[in-house]
Amino acid sequence: MVGHNHPAVTDALRDQLENGTLFTHPHELLGEAAEAIKDRWDPIDLVRFTNSGTESTMHAIRLARAYSGREKVLKIEGSYHGAHDYVLLSKSVPAHKLGHPKQPTTVIESEGVPEAIADTVEIGPWNDLDAIESILEENATEIGTLIVEPIVMNVGVTQPHGEYLQGLRELCDEYNVVLIFDEVKTGVKIAPGGATEYYGVEPDLVTMAKSIGGNMPVGAFGGREDIMREIENGTAHYGTYNGNPLVLRAVTTVLNEVLTDDAYDHVDALGDRLATGYEEIMADVGLAGHVEQVNSQGIVVFTDEEINNYRDFDEHVDVEFHENYWFAMLERGVLPHPHHASQQWTISVQHEDEHIDRHLEAFKDVAPMLAD
Ligand code: PLP
Repeated sequence: MVGHNHPAVTDALRDQLENGTLFTHPHELLGEAAEAIKDRWDPIDLVRFTNSGTESTMHAIRLARAYSGREKVLKIEGSYHGAHDYVLLSKSVPAHKLGHPKQPTTVIESEGVPEAIADTVEIGPWNDLDAIESILEENATEIGTLIVEPIVMNVGVTQPHGEYLQGLRELCDEYNVVLIFDEVKTGVKIAPGGATEYYGVEPDLVTMAKSIGGNMPVGAFGGREDIMREIENGTAHYGTYNGNPLVLRAVTTVLNEVLTDDAYDHVDALGDRLATGYEEIMADVGLAGHVEQVNSQGIVVFTDEEINNYRDFDEHVDVEFHENYWFAMLERGVLPHPHHASQQWTISVQHEDEHIDRHLEAFKDVAPMLAD
């Protein structure tokens, strides 16, 4: 969201290079960066820094297991939470392996992930509260953690519908389950305080990475003090480069100087323009499709069907059709994200109206071919 080579970030990094890049001791930038995150997220009392989103979800899950005293984790079908063993499960399952829609099968998605680990993870569907409740009820003495992307950003931009997120909060309270919002993709992008602020639902723990560091390798996790204090109580969180000053300089610069209120107004307005432009062009040429958009984040899907979850996306979004769109846009100088399920766009603070114009000009040229 910060874009490439942002002058405020590169200046700060240059300055920090002269002042030290690794102290292996706590230092004042840790406090500054943690405060900047806490200012944005009401449910966060304490924050720890990592080097990636993968590390953040790994540590948050370990912490939630330690706090709840229960080993099983509930994860949503189609969500990606990074590359560690506990989450490389049921993120992009082929149709014949999906299992029952209300109790999906836990499918291992990488060689080398032990079955024993898959046995500790249950999979639930997005936007189906009854199914989540049944899984929690059935595993009430075993599941102590629910991890969700509050918008499933690895399946288009699939929002929670109706009271789904609030319902998850209530179910977690009822079954004493730690609720983790994985805001690695939504955090600081869809609102200053991420999906937590946007939907007004409070998780127990939040994980973040990516945009908080303006392209530097960083992650963070934080949340309720009683849960976070488990780290002083026998739950491990170590790492030589955690919270190193170079990366934290990027974080404080991004959060305090780059992603300002004006910056959000700017990217949100451009996001609206892009989304509306796509809808108008598709309507003009009779191309089936719609845009799923939340402020600076959006994606075009070439189907009129409603997308509620991973299965809808898998069923209705034609990969080959999206490839044709992708190549045609590329030939016209626009490079959408190359993965069909996350071809979504992020508007950066460095984009201007002229970039949206260029993007829409390219799509205007491509849409009639797709409609034929
Ligand atoms: N969580 C979500 C929702 C993600 O989209 C990603 C990466 O795309 C991760 C976690 C992992 O983050 P990283 O690539 O920084 O390890």
